[in-house]
Amino acid sequence: MTTTDVSVELDAGLAARWRDLTARLADIRRRYPDAALASSLAAEDMVLTHAIYDSGLDLEVFTLDTGRLHAETLGVLDAVRERYGREVTVYRPIAAAVDEHVAAHGAFAFYESVELRKACCQIRKVEPLKRALAGRGAWITGQRRAQSTTRGELALEEDDKTFGLYKFNPLADWSEEDVWSAIRALGIPYNPLHDQGYPSIGCEPCTRAIRPGEDLRAGRWWWESSDSKECGLHAGNRVISIAARGD
Ligand code: SF4
Repeated sequence: MTTTDVSVELDAGLAARWRDLTARLADIRRRYPDAALASSLAAEDMVLTHAIYDSGLDLEVFTLDTGRLHAETLGVLDAVRERYGREVTVYRPIAAAVDEHVAAHGAFAFYESVELRKACCQIRKVEPLKRALAGRGAWITGQRRAQSTTRGELALEEDDKTFGLYKFNPLADWSEEDVWSAIRALGIPYNPLHDQGYPSIGCEPCTRAIRPGEDLRAGRWWWESSDSKECGLHAGNRVISIAARGD
């Protein structure tokens, strides 16, 4: 049962968006009862978590603890437990694979090359995600089109050929302002790093605060070019080069 009266908490435009969002999530549950939200515990994922838990939807929420997350990010798990009385399922990398990679390349090899960075993401993110998605018909993400050049043509739903299941991006058409208006109006818990210049938060050594005017994902793997900035979780996203955009 929905506990949030969005017509009271949100302005008319956002209330309509919220009703549309909960309808989208209910439709996903109807079509794919085993669908799950892959949460990075970032702002968008907290909006989706609230929409799922507050609506009483029986959809699982899981996250990937890479072993390199900020303490503030891990603290969101406690905030969710306190607020909703529900647990986020946590998947972790295979310890032996991490140990082997670190022994061979060092603990900070991701700064040395895109290949080594992707190898680390493969071990700490992609493999655990594959385990989390195994046997499911669909997954849900908090990606938005406005987040970066690699997400400009993001669909609301798509056939995810990378992982071999259906993928829903129910916030694809939400703006940054929509996300934060909902968080503030509904009192949704969020990662305090967002208040310290981190609009996009990944692993601690691979994320920095951004400067005014920078792309929202400029702080992720900031030493790489913008069109390589996906970790493998959303490898199907179309890369739009700066040349193609004409700027
Ligand atoms: S974001 Fe950085 S630390 Fe995290 S898995 Fe990828 S390369 Fe490794």
